[in-house]
Amino acid sequence: MARVRLTGVSKRFGDTSAVDDVNLDIADGEFLVLLGPSGCGKSTLLRMLAGLEQPGAGRILLDDTDITEQPPQRRDLAMVFQSYALYPHLTVAGNIGFPLRARRTPRARIAARVAEVAASLGLTGLLHRRPAQLSGGQRQRVALARAMVRSPGAFLMDEPLSNLDATLRSATRAELISLHRTLGATFLYVTHDQVEAMTMADRIVLLDAGRVQQVGTPAELYDRPRSVFVAGFLGSPPMNLFPAEVTARGAALHLVAGGIDIELPIRAAGFGAELPVVAGIRPERLRLVSADPDIRGHVAMIENLGSEELVHLAAGAHRIAVRAPRPAGVTTGETAGVRVRPADVHLFDPGTGLRLTWQEPPSTTAGAAVRTATVPA
Ligand code: ATP
Repeated sequence: MARVRLTGVSKRFGDTSAVDDVNLDIADGEFLVLLGPSGCGKSTLLRMLAGLEQPGAGRILLDDTDITEQPPQRRDLAMVFQSYALYPHLTVAGNIGFPLRARRTPRARIAARVAEVAASLGLTGLLHRRPAQLSGGQRQRVALARAMVRSPGAFLMDEPLSNLDATLRSATRAELISLHRTLGATFLYVTHDQVEAMTMADRIVLLDAGRVQQVGTPAELYDRPRSVFVAGFLGSPPMNLFPAEVTARGAALHLVAGGIDIELPIRAAGFGAELPVVAGIRPERLRLVSADPDIRGHVAMIENLGSEELVHLAAGAHRIAVRAPRPAGVTTGETAGVRVRPADVHLFDPGTGLRLTWQEPPSTTAGAAVRTATVPA
């Protein structure tokens, strides 16, 4: 069993800050996904956990033991690499049993354990083959079996599905979820693929430039992104993000940008000036309407996604994507309108990029009014 804690973990390579002051508390049995764009430091963080890289600062604890200086083989962790890293001259059985042989486990015990793990991953018929005689999916399962054979407290996985084709990837994703349930072990999983993160994670750690941007359940990150970066990273097609202003009109506040006027359920009392914001609305939260639209524009393009259409509206200077069931009922070039629930509007500070929270009651200054204003869910 393994609870993993990182405190103030940093790593530099020359001028590059690969991992910058990361603090995480990973519960025993949790499926934690490290997600982020290429070069954000995911692999470096995982390699420090595995002991393959030494942190420049900070501590790593496994349960209550400080393992920061422990060599990889002494850590109760097993790593699965993107490349599988199988020994080409060994059979499947030889590869799976390798970690036990390295620990001088008795032969009979190795054979029994290899048979057991191979059976659980559907590899029994392949035990005599060499890696070159296996498909990508089978190699990936051998790499997993080799990690499982010692029953480690935690599994560290670095993009283990990225060499598989789309169908196999989706099937293996489901297998990994069920394997995690069966084993009850801690999984730390690196990917740049948001679908993998959203479907598999108990919690996601989203990294950018070595720093943690947000930690939370997939729903928390998707529904309440902490910043413009998080909002733009998760979601396909991505969230519509555009500069706008919050301004008082009559008794209410409105979110205004070219072609866009959304009444926010916040009292305008005391709101003196216009507040520049970055607004965000997910394409699937917009609804095409024929009357009283919040956003009006002309249809610049329609993409056929099969079951749905992605309608691109040009509203003033902004492009707004609307995801609608197919057929969406509009044609390119015509004027169209969409409506949005105010609760589906995200607001961010254009300076810091951070989320503006909406809580009653509005205070008297413009900035504070939106920073503390409420939109009922
Ligand atoms: P990817 O998804 O592309 O694998 P990543 O998020 O896993 O990226 P890392 O491999 O952890 O990113 O790299 C983080 C940063 O550290 C990058 O800027 C990378 O170029 C740099 N880096 C990683 N390893 C080394 C190294 N051994 N020497 C110098 N720079 C390195």
